[in-house]
Parts: sequence; C-alpha cells; structure tokens
Amino acid sequence: MHGADRYPLKEGGCGIGYPLDLSELRYCPRCAGFLVARRVSGERLAHPTCSSCGFVLWQSPSPVVAALITRQQAGVIEILLGLRGSEPGWGLWHVPGGFVDAGETLEEALARECEEELGVRVYPHEFLGGFPDRYGKEPILVLAYRCELIGGTPRGCPELNQPTWFSMDQLPPLAFRSCEEALEVLRRRLQGAR
Ligand SMILES: [Zn+2]
Repeated sequence: MHGADRYPLKEGGCGIGYPLDLSELRYCPRCAGFLVARRVSGERLAHPTCSSCGFVLWQSPSPVVAALITRQQAGVIEILLGLRGSEPGWGLWHVPGGFVDAGETLEEALARECEEELGVRVYPHEFLGGFPDRYGKEPILVLAYRCELIGGTPRGCPELNQPTWFSMDQLPPLAFRSCEEALEVLRRRLQGAR
C-alpha cells in the first residue's frame, strides 16, 4: 500500500487521538474484492472501500455504555469495580457496561449490562460524556453514566468478577483509558459539588 491507500488516513482534529487500525480488513464482505483505504468525499477519515464494487466498510465507533456506580461510605465516595475475565484488559479492573444492542436505548443497555454482569439494578443519575477508545482493534465510543445502586447485591460473573468498592482516591489499575477519563470527569464534578 502507498500514497492515498496507506492506512490510516487521518486528518487533524478528529479527536480520536490514535489511528484506526484497518490492517486486517482485506476483503469486501459483499463481493470478496480487495479493500483499499479511501476517503469518501466529505469524510475526514479513510474507510476500507471495495476496489471492485465500491462497498464502504464504515469503521464508525460502536456505542458502549459504562456504569460508574458510586456510593458514599463514612464521607468517602466509593466506586464499584470488577476484575475483567477476558481480553482485552484481562486481570485489570473495570466498571460494568458493554456494547449497546440494536434497538436498545442507552438506559436499557446500562440496566441490562449491570444486571447481567453484577446482578444489580442501577439508577443513572447523570451522563458524564462520550469517550473515544478501542476494544481490541474496534473503535468504540464509551458513553459513561454516574449511577446509583438501587437493588441487588453485587456478585461477579466470568466477564467481570470480584466486585469490590474502591475509594475514588485510591483506585487500582484500570483496563481502559476511556474509563480513566470518565472517572476524571466524575472526580471534577464531585469536587465541584462539595
Ligand atoms: Zn465489493
């Protein structure tokens, strides 16, 4: 690959902070022709485009919800984390959350993931922002909410085990940069509220 066909083709100001990794996307899912990186008119980023039929395999980020479940214990604000049981981020701490299913609202996805992963019900108090990241090589947009526990006792699952409350001031190593960024926003908001 060379020139305009080189991955990744990225112009400034896209806000991603890292290039899309398109290196393993080689064949068109419609006609099995070769994919080349090409920027569609008006787009800032190159996407794999079929050299035979023109099909564009858009690499737009998938929406992912993340629940930052907090509580206050003796004046200390704590957050609920679990240990990831699979890659990426195996053995590192993470918040409950996951990919939004087709047809789901963000709140429905949050509720479903918290129930599936920790067996708890949560109330989403506030939206903290959207944080670009990658899940393996897949571009994702992490939509983070500060949540409150309203039912159930946290129990682990193979995906997210050993649910543990940590003080916001003493957090262990986290699995994803987007989660650290969301926590930073949460910290600033909590400080502003004091
Ligand atoms: Zn094709």
